Parts: sequence; C-alpha cells; structure tokens
Amino acid sequence: MTTDTKAKETRAFEADVSRLLHMMVHSVYSDKDVFLRELISNAADACEKLRFEAVSRPELLADDPKPRITVSADPDNKEITVEDNGIGMSRDDMAEALGTIARSGTRAFVERVGVGGTTEDTQFIGQFGVGFYSAFMVAERVDVISRLAGSEEAWRWSSDGKGSYEIAPAPLEAAPRRGTRVVLHLMDDAVPCTGSYRLEQLAKSQSGHVPVPITLVEKPGAEARDIADGTALWVRPKSEIKPEEYTDFYRSVAGQYDEPAATIHFRAEGRQEYSVLAFVPGSRPFDLFDQDRKGRMKLYVRRVFITDDADLLPRYLRFVRGLVDSADLPLNVSREMIQESPLLASIRKGLTNRVLGDLAKLAENEAEAFAKIWENFGVVLKEGLYEDYERREQLLQLARFHSTTSGEGWRGLAGYVAAMKEGQKAIFFMAGDDRARLEASPQLEGFRARGIEVLLLTDPVDSFWVTMAPHFEDKPFKSITQGAAELADIPLLDVAKKPDTAATPEIDGFLAFVKSTLGDAVSDVKASDRLTESAVCLVAPEHGHDRQFERLLNAAGRLDKAAKPILEINPRHERVLALASLGDDEQAFKDDAAHLLYDEARVLDGDKPADARAFSQRLARLIARGLAK
Ligand code: ADP
Ligand code: MG
Repeated sequence: MTTDTKAKETRAFEADVSRLLHMMVHSVYSDKDVFLRELISNAADACEKLRFEAVSRPELLADDPKPRITVSADPDNKEITVEDNGIGMSRDDMAEALGTIARSGTRAFVERVGVGGTTEDTQFIGQFGVGFYSAFMVAERVDVISRLAGSEEAWRWSSDGKGSYEIAPAPLEAAPRRGTRVVLHLMDDAVPCTGSYRLEQLAKSQSGHVPVPITLVEKPGAEARDIADGTALWVRPKSEIKPEEYTDFYRSVAGQYDEPAATIHFRAEGRQEYSVLAFVPGSRPFDLFDQDRKGRMKLYVRRVFITDDADLLPRYLRFVRGLVDSADLPLNVSREMIQESPLLASIRKGLTNRVLGDLAKLAENEAEAFAKIWENFGVVLKEGLYEDYERREQLLQLARFHSTTSGEGWRGLAGYVAAMKEGQKAIFFMAGDDRARLEASPQLEGFRARGIEVLLLTDPVDSFWVTMAPHFEDKPFKSITQGAAELADIPLLDVAKKPDTAATPEIDGFLAFVKSTLGDAVSDVKASDRLTESAVCLVAPEHGHDRQFERLLNAAGRLDKAAKPILEINPRHERVLALASLGDDEQAFKDDAAHLLYDEARVLDGDKPADARAFSQRLARLIARGLAK
C-alpha cells in the first residue's frame, strides 16, 4: 500500500481501542497518576532504542548525543508535556504504535533485535503495548508530535481517544529536532497535576530511577531544572558504588535517616532475571509493628516503578527496605495481576532465600553487626518461626536469645546445643514478660544447680513459636515450667549437695495431705527435682499450654479454660521436712501451711494469692503463733 506521505488523514482506531480505553480508565489502573510514569517510561524506552540504533548508525545522534526527558507544565493552558530526544516515530510508526492495541512497537523492535540481541539489549522492552493510552485517563485530547531520528519530516498524531485519531504533517520548526513530544490537554479534574511540586514528586517517586535524566520546566519560560540524573544505582556494578551512595539511596527508598545495618545488592540471572537492592535499616522503622505488617519493598520492571504493594518478602522480613527490578515481568499490567504472577512468586522465593542467606553470613562473620540487627528485628524475624514452616530450621539458626548464662550477650542455638550437659535431652527455656523476674524464678534453681543453661524468652511472640513444638538439630524445646523437669539424670555441679531423691513416707504423706487440702485448686502436688533453694513452685501439666502462653491467651480473651497447675514441693527443703513431721494435733496449722505454700508459689509466679481475705487471715494466725513462742 502506498500512501501520500504528505496527506492529513483521519483513521478509526483499530479493533477495540475504545473498549481498551474504557478498561484503562476503569480497571487496569486504579491510580491515574501512573500516566506520567507511562509517558516517561515510553520516553526512556525511546532513548534506549536510539542508543541501541546508534551503535551501528552513530550519525543518528548528530550533535545531541545525551538522552534527555523534559516534563513541562502549562497550568494556564491546562497542559502537561513530556518530551524526549529518543528514536522518534515516523508516520507509519505512529499509525501502528498509537492506533492499535497490544501490538507494541516495542515488540516489533524485539523481533528486529532478534536472536542476536542479548538480554542486555532488550531489557528495556515492554511486553504489552497499552501504557500510552493511560494518557487518556487525565487528558481530553492528546497530541503527539514526533520526528524520527535521521528523518526530514515530522508528524502530528492527535486524538480525543474516542474512536478515531488524526495524523498530519507537522512543520519542522514546531517539532522536536529529534524524538517525541506528547502534549496532554488535561481534563478539568486533572489540572492539579500541573502543580510543579506534585509533578516533581510524581516524576521522582515513580520514575526517579529510569536510565535517562529528567528535567522539569514548571511553567512556560521557566528555567529547566534537573530532577533525576538518569542513573539507576542498582544496575551499576557493586564495586563502583561508594558507601555514601548506598546510604543516600537507602535514605530515599526507606525514608530513614540512619545508616543501613546491611546492604543486599545482587543480580539474579538464569530462569529469572532481576536486580535487588535492599537494606536492613539501622534502627526500627516507625511502622514496624503496624497491624497490617506490610512490606515496603518496591517493585520495578526494567527500571520503571510498578508498585510498593507487591508482597516481595514474607511478613517477617517486612523490615527490609529497597527494591526489586525485574527484567521479565510485563510492565503494563495491574497490580492485582502482578500479585498473582508466577514470576513474582519465584522472585519472592529467591529474594527471601537471599536475604536469609545474607543474614546467616553476617551472623557468622560479623557477630556484632548481626547482634545489632537481631536486637532491632529479632522479634519480627521470630514470627517466621511459626509462619514459615519450610524455613524454620534456617530461622532457628539465625535466632538469638538471652539465657541464664549469656549475660548481656546473645546466645545462638548452635552454641546452646554445643554447651549442653551430659544427659540433657532438651533445649530448656522459660517464657515470661520480664527477664529479671524470670531470672528470679524458683523453677530455675535445679537447672542452675546443674549448670544447665536456660533460654529466657521475653517476647510475646516466643510463646507462639515454641508451642509449635519445634526441634533444633533434633533437640526438642522444653519449657522448664511445664511437665516433669527431667533433671534426675543430670548431676549437680556441687556433688556434695546430692539430692536425696528417695521420698520418705513422711514426705509422701505430706504431699497427699496438701493435695487433699487444696482440692480443686491444683491438678496435682508433686515432689520437685527442679527446686533447690525454694520450697515450692507451680508448673503446667505436661500436655496443654505453657504457663506464660496461657497467660497471653487469657489476656487476649482467647482462653476457654485455664489448665490447673501442678504444685511442686521441694522434699529436701527444711521447712517442708519440718511441716511433714508435724503430728496430727497440728491439723489446723498444717491446713493453713498447705494453703500458704500454694499462695507462696502463686506469688513467686507473679500472681496474687488465690483468696486475698483467707490469705491475710492465715498469715495473721501464723504471725500470732510466731509471737506466742
Ligand atoms: P509499550 O511501551 O509497552 O510498547 P505503550 O502503549 O506505552 O506500549 O506505547 C506504545 C508504542 O508507542 C511504543 O511501543 C512505541 O513504539 C510508541 N511510543 C510511545 N511513546 C513513544 C515515544 N515517546 N517515542 C517513541 N515511540 C513511542
Ligand atoms: Mg510504554
């Protein structure tokens, strides 16, 4: 077909452009501001295409070799213009690229590059040709004036997006010397977009990292101002990036003002291609404990910002800030569609593994730096212990705890296991809200006396993951306030203090007496091997909840029925021995003593006496008895 190349012509949009436009406005993009991102992205693509063509035809660059995108506003005339000095379009290019749907000029370009083209050449290629039409979300008319690189003609494409477009020759003096100018005649409700602050924010946040510098002209006649320098930090080789560049970038991407605690920068190749530049913040971001536990990783496709709403990392890594730039995801799809993309799932997996892997390396090689990260984010990472079954082992490797022997430092599980005593089968822990109180617990005595380390778990989240009965290197976790202490097999440090485990008939009788006196208040009364100093303590039954977990459930109103505790009595304790040897004539006193032992155990557990009034009466009788002696 030959066309008179000088003729003005009106053509109907091919196929269902109106339907597409309808779709653009109503469903594909929920956010109209993306028009700017799309136009800048096209402008950047055009510059990249020229860069590629100029490899074999350097004359195309003429005296203007530097790629450039200019965004200008004209508030009085309700216009926004996006202009580039890229490859430009011929008349036929325009008719094909801007008149049809889903037949992207970009795709034709890919075909031309063909098998010879490397991914490097084609990384900027979009896959769906619909982004341009987003201009009609804000504009009632769009003019595109373009001059193909090396051509002596310029053309104007113009449309109201309602069914047809017009193509006419444009005088050269009214066209860019090379490249494309897209003029949006804004709808009234889109006029606020012309505000220079808004434009700058939009351009920077959405496209600040496209590979072409962007300048802004606030109003006609104003001086052009550089707002983005065109370098995407993450595509540069690591070795060339200075620490302060990383820090600057971290601050802008994370909104933090500190130094990053760790920088994760890599490029994945192979089945999936993507670059990652992410940071572990140096301090806790303010939204770390927001209810929605949202991640803050940004998704880019070929250096164009897509969304910060794609779940690129699991919730328990939500403190990681940065971005992923994919070479494979389609640029022009809705966020919803991106979420469901299998490509995204595979990026998510790769990224998660990498972040955990980098943390593990840091833990191994720079223990102090890792300890700082754990200090800030351990409580979040531990959520993964119950949310990410597959990586629980990996997360347990990373986990650090305070323990009865760790002092101010942190204890890792590998270290714990290596220091386990002979005969010790479990990793012992005690959960509670407050470390000092935990350390004062009577339940710890028997463990201390044997030199057995006990992990002190003080984050509420701890109670959740330990209930999932995890193992570490096939050692189970065991609460020292639950079930049997299993200490009999492990020798005391001070052998002279060897406990006389053989219960006497007197002690047995006393335990039975206490049990019948307390009745329903406890589920059992037992001789204790976990106590050395104290007379009594409470423990939870072997099955059911740990006492701390029960407290948390209760506080959250999610406990149907509290399990009755077991009262453990130290059969070697002087007071207990004395009580056990009392005769039957001391029945009333023994009765009071049984209740007071129980209340003592409750108080040691951070609780109140079972019945405050009865308690004070018993105490009063006891004091009176003491005074009478
Ligand atoms: P995509 O960018 O995915 O190809 P768009 O709808 O955004 O889809 O753009 C359609 C086509 O219009 C582009 O592929 C390109 O051929 C052409 N085009 C749009 N803007 C420009 C521009 N500034 N310079 C050159 N060509 C452009
Ligand atoms: Mg595009």
